[in-house]
Amino acid sequence: MASSNPLRAALAAGRFCYLVELVASRLAREARLLEIASGLARVPGVVAGSITSYAGGAPGHDPLRIGAAARARGLTPSLHVTCVSLDRHGLRKLLEDAAALGIENVFAMSGDWPTAPVGQDRPPAVYDIDAVQLVSLIAGLRRAGPPFHVAVAVSPFKYLESDCVYQYLKLEKKARAGADYAITQVGWDAEKFRELKRWVDERGLRLPLVGNVYLLGPRTAAKMARGEPPGCWVPPELLALVERESAAADGGLGARLERAARTIAVLRGLGYAGAYIGGTQDPELIARLIARSDVLAPRWEEFAAELRFGRPDGFYLYREAPRARGPRREAIPLVLDTLGRLFPVRRETWLRKGLRGIFRAIDRSRGLARAVERLEFALKQPAFGCQACGNCVLGDLEYVCPLTCPKHERNGPCGGTAHGRCEVEDKPCIWGAVYARARAAGRLDGLRAYIPPADPGLAGTSSWINYFLERDARPRAGL
Ligand code: SF4
Repeated sequence: MASSNPLRAALAAGRFCYLVELVASRLAREARLLEIASGLARVPGVVAGSITSYAGGAPGHDPLRIGAAARARGLTPSLHVTCVSLDRHGLRKLLEDAAALGIENVFAMSGDWPTAPVGQDRPPAVYDIDAVQLVSLIAGLRRAGPPFHVAVAVSPFKYLESDCVYQYLKLEKKARAGADYAITQVGWDAEKFRELKRWVDERGLRLPLVGNVYLLGPRTAAKMARGEPPGCWVPPELLALVERESAAADGGLGARLERAARTIAVLRGLGYAGAYIGGTQDPELIARLIARSDVLAPRWEEFAAELRFGRPDGFYLYREAPRARGPRREAIPLVLDTLGRLFPVRRETWLRKGLRGIFRAIDRSRGLARAVERLEFALKQPAFGCQACGNCVLGDLEYVCPLTCPKHERNGPCGGTAHGRCEVEDKPCIWGAVYARARAAGRLDGLRAYIPPADPGLAGTSSWINYFLERDARPRAGL
């Protein structure tokens, strides 16, 4: 019911609102977290507490329990739901439990790669489905009853064309899958906030945007300058400024609050729907911040001109400067595209019909089917890093295997990329290659297609047979 969810009501009414991140890490006592929740419930403008799960890759308190208890104290919870540690069945169960507790706000994301708490083993990384597929799963549950209200993440603070545009393409998929609004990654670059808003408006996406506003102290600034947690980045000039400010008698708190209040003013001026406050969960500080941003709101353009902590040589989508020349086509996609044209099987051709008959006959013999699977794997493993998932989408992803992404994303990069590098392994992000090949071939539009989760029952079987017998999971028309 809309009236019982202040977050949904504020976004629907176009009333600028505030979400506060409640970090449910094991370092925080549960009683203290709930005391904070009570305090936040009394701050005017705060419509929800956003309860983390696997923040920075580390497990914390049970977010369901914290969410239910926060709600009992008057703070509407928004639950972080990540793909880190649960498969699709576990996620469905978590969502059903949330619905049973009356929690309807969920923040769907891939989640940071798990880290090992001190003295403990690293929790397993599951990543059975990705963030777009998770939104689709939630939307399916919503159609059956629970009125989930779904937030998704997006980072405009990417300074390579491939990282940046793919973030936006993926956001479009999340919107089509059923997202209700989007929350940005942290960043201190007004031009990027503006760029994202323009992208969303130009595409007619009905997706309110909530900007991340982080009270940045020197320790966190130093960590983010090293790219921790993944996807967060503080440039050297901002780090130096924060360090200088922290020498003041108040330890830099006044300067920190002022920067955050000015950022909120910019977000309001740009037409954002709200601010997602992180870096503090102190109700008194947050009340001060909101009051100060109210005073500063009319001067937002002046502050937007100051909020320029990006990469001067980085990619900005709407800058006048001529865009870099597109990448040249590589040999592998060129050859495979040519073969695809010479031997068309993606449409109902004579070749496809013939191959379907052959593979149907092969499929009747377990030994023959196994031999085909071995042959397929022998060819595709060295060429593409194939892991025999049985649901091949090489043809939809520019001949890049999504299982070579450590998080097994199928719909585009997670938010953790660092200037084209993978968050998990020391290698380029595979989605950079997908983007470059699609751009070189003039088919960026193809990257908008929704790729469904792989059918795990087909792992270890031949994707060729599965394809021709149409039993694999692959993009269909529409969503
Ligand atoms: S998508 Fe699946 S079948 Fe295709 S190359 Fe990757 S692991 Fe192999």
